[in-house]
Amino acid sequence: MAVDLQLSLDAFDRTLPPPCGGRPDRNGFLRLCYRCPFATRDRGSLFCEEFGISITAREKYALRGWRVVRDAIMDRDGRCCVICGGSESLHVHHIDLDPTNDVPENLITLCGICHARVHTDLRREGGAARVAKVIAVVRQRGGAARSTPSSR
Ligand SMILES: [Zn+2]
Ligand SMILES: [Zn+2]
Repeated sequence: MAVDLQLSLDAFDRTLPPPCGGRPDRNGFLRLCYRCPFATRDRGSLFCEEFGISITAREKYALRGWRVVRDAIMDRDGRCCVICGGSESLHVHHIDLDPTNDVPENLITLCGICHARVHTDLRREGGAARVAKVIAVVRQRGGAARSTPSSR
């Protein structure tokens, strides 16, 4: 029961005008670019084909637009790690590992420790499947912290 969370580029309609109205500089390369049908995604960077501009994931994490997304995801997850329920040093993880794919279904809140573990596990053999399973489970119960006042 593999779930494909990646939003394919075919989902976007290039017959529509770009959401920035043709001025990506004016929108400050904010979230609009990450949803734009003219943006191509490649290994953590985004390239605007209309205007020939690229944005790397690193630059993106410094943008105000990203902080808005990040905050919204943390609020949704109750400001707790969805795996352990911890609330310290929270990160937002891209489930499909594509840092340009910010659809809410692709984002989850993890604490620094669980986040590091997830990434370590992903590098191991069979890790992707294990991580996907864990994420599917926490999803189903709607996040660790909210549903269970757990003791572990
Ligand atoms: Zn955690
Ligand atoms: Zn991550």
